[in-house]
Amino acid sequence: MYDVVIVGAGIIGTFIARELSRYKLKIAVLDKLNDVACATTKANSAIIHCGYDAKPGTLKAKLNVLGNPMFDSICEELDVHFKRVGSLVLAFNDEEMNTLNELYQRGIQNGLKNIYVVEKEQLKSLEPNLSDSAAGALYAPDCGIIGPFELAVALAENAVENGVELLLNTEVSAIEKNDELFKVQTTAGVIKARYIINCAGVHADHINNMVSKEWFKITPRRGQYFVLDKSAGDLVSKVIFQCPTKMGKGVLVLPTVHGNILVGPDSEDIEDKQNLETTMERLEHVRTAAMKSIQNIPFDKSITSFTGLRASAEKGDFIIEESNDVKGLINVAGIESPGLSASPAIAQYVVQLIKEINGGFAEKEDFNPHRKKVMRFIELGDKEKAELIKNDPSYGRIICRCELITEGEIVDAIHRKAGAATLDGVKRRVRPGMGRCQGGFCSPRVMEILARELNKDILEIVKDSRASKILTGITKEQ
Ligand SMILES: Cc1cc2nc3c(=O)[nH]c(=O)nc-3n(C[C@H](O)[C@H](O)[C@H](O)COP(=O)(O)OP(=O)(O)OC[C@H]3O[C@@H](n4cnc5c(N)ncnc54)[C@H](O)[C@@H]3O)c2cc1C
Repeated sequence: MYDVVIVGAGIIGTFIARELSRYKLKIAVLDKLNDVACATTKANSAIIHCGYDAKPGTLKAKLNVLGNPMFDSICEELDVHFKRVGSLVLAFNDEEMNTLNELYQRGIQNGLKNIYVVEKEQLKSLEPNLSDSAAGALYAPDCGIIGPFELAVALAENAVENGVELLLNTEVSAIEKNDELFKVQTTAGVIKARYIINCAGVHADHINNMVSKEWFKITPRRGQYFVLDKSAGDLVSKVIFQCPTKMGKGVLVLPTVHGNILVGPDSEDIEDKQNLETTMERLEHVRTAAMKSIQNIPFDKSITSFTGLRASAEKGDFIIEESNDVKGLINVAGIESPGLSASPAIAQYVVQLIKEINGGFAEKEDFNPHRKKVMRFIELGDKEKAELIKNDPSYGRIICRCELITEGEIVDAIHRKAGAATLDGVKRRVRPGMGRCQGGFCSPRVMEILARELNKDILEIVKDSRASKILTGITKEQ
């Protein structure tokens, strides 16, 4: 029996788990997929927004503004890449200049101090490659970029180190509430809990509607992106937005924490929550829209494309509350953008809520907020590299030549708490396969290492989901 069961191991579920692991509680995080951060958390713009976009008075505004400044210390504790690069929202005409002024006023109302409207003349000194047709911009120096799946993995690892159980491949199929207890039917058996925290992303409506009569609906809103090679990495140094519309924040051009360039997303309401296709038509729309901000985007350096699904709730705000008719069920739903930016504040808000419902929780004396440092070969100086290889020669074997990832880093990613067990799990943690060849060369080597370290047959190693088999059999016996 658990005190708390968290459904969903995306950024929201893992953040809440880590925050709750400060207390003497028996906690499980369930996810139907076979790794953390495999849904929306792995496919978004990776921006830590400042909080001028959300309507004043909404949870989105409040939790975004609270969340943004928390990232420096959390990323330090968890050894996760995070950079405050700043952002520019561009205006191209007088009407959009009015929108910028509205955004500025909204930002001030939301409590921001460090935002500015800048004139056309200042733009090129802030970002040399901006289009000549930009008429002005809203400049927000505190905007940041992060590795979202890297953060979720780190949070899961730290939560597990602090006693949380991570139950992957565990899909919730039904929930009953009898007396004070929930009985959660899953593909891995029945799990009992006193509280359920529903962090199931685009499926949060499904989880709520299993047990509550107060139904709500989450619409998946699809967004598609290009990823450009690192050789295009100096195209922009800041996050370049266009003026937002009611469908979202528009098409962006931005650097990633690892030095690539991201271009996207578009915005399209769809029905199918499994539909992660990228399409020629929508990517062409992204391409044309982005070139309004930056004319010389080298799309010939595009190395991959991807899609993410926003979890859009009918009322437009985050739903973070205890269900009215099912006490002990806490919904954390409709967490579309700025959900990543707000995630540390969402976690604290939810923990406060559940503490109030329960009448407090006893704190652990031995909570450890730090995770073991990750050895990143590419970031070390020559002397440190030599020392590392001397101590462990596996750090001297390069497996991914595009990203310069060593065998030692891959082995470490596999054996950490909440470690990698799939090809993409390794890729999300330490990046082999993220480079120009997209795993063309390193994938077979990574599979061999996974099979060896997990003591599995290589035929069992999957790309990502349980069904994503890579090898089907041996073609040539030696
Ligand atoms: C295109 C796009 C761009 C975005 N850009 C930004 C941005 O730049 N900045 C920002 O702040 N926010 C951004 N967001 C929003 C941000 O990505 C989300 O708010 C955040 O990732 C939501 O995380 P989550 O944990 O709620 O959901 P998810 O990451 O989707 O996690 C939900 C988990 O629940 C699991 N689950 C579902 N059903 C079940 C079940 N029945 N049983 C067990 N497990 C289940 C899923 O497998 C999944 O792992 C963007 C979103 C999109 C789509």
